[in-house]
Amino acid sequence: PKRIHVLGFPIDNLNIDQTLKLIIKECENKNKHFIVAQNPEKIIAGLKDNELAIILKHKATLLIPDGFGLIIAAIILGESRLSRVTGIQLFEKLLDYANEEGKRVFFFGGKPEVNHRLIKVVSQRYPNLIIAGHQHGYEKDHGMILSKINEVKPDFLFVALGSPRQEKWIAKYFDNLPVYVAMGVGGSFDVLTG
Ligand code: UDP
Repeated sequence: PKRIHVLGFPIDNLNIDQTLKLIIKECENKNKHFIVAQNPEKIIAGLKDNELAIILKHKATLLIPDGFGLIIAAIILGESRLSRVTGIQLFEKLLDYANEEGKRVFFFGGKPEVNHRLIKVVSQRYPNLIIAGHQHGYEKDHGMILSKINEVKPDFLFVALGSPRQEKWIAKYFDNLPVYVAMGVGGSFDVLTG
């Protein structure tokens, strides 16, 4: 996709429909994506955290323009006009798509009661989506979490551990995750259950 850079950090210049279309096509072609909702907070953190910078510059494969500040920065820097796509917007679109196509989804993160409630909300709102598995975000045994994911082989893995924890977690395991999409969704589980 068309990319712009803000302070050396890439952002994909696609609107929500183009983003969704690309992800669907990539799934059909069996390509994997590590999606990051990019915003000024992550870029500022990346300026001080080299591990995060490498993830944002080289490991994430699709970086959506989530933060309003990025839209402004792109204009000031004379880059193209970005159309804002928030993480939660894309998350909900992917859930709609998963529901339409009966895709398998794994929900990792959030407090135990939030993760539990999320499963109820999702099964009511998206009855045709397959909840392949779920795991709250305070489990220390990452080997166990990985076995769980490996066992059920979800199409989509949503990780809500807050930033940069979720990006670092996905980056660490991405190459071996049996998923088409791994996306950090921050506080979205709280929003959906709130
Ligand atoms: N979270 C988690 N495990 C942790 C820390 C945070 O599952 O070890 C969850 C937290 O419960 C919340 C989400 O991560 O649902 C987002 O956390 P926060 O608001 O701190 O991050 P942000 O959305 O600001 O990136």
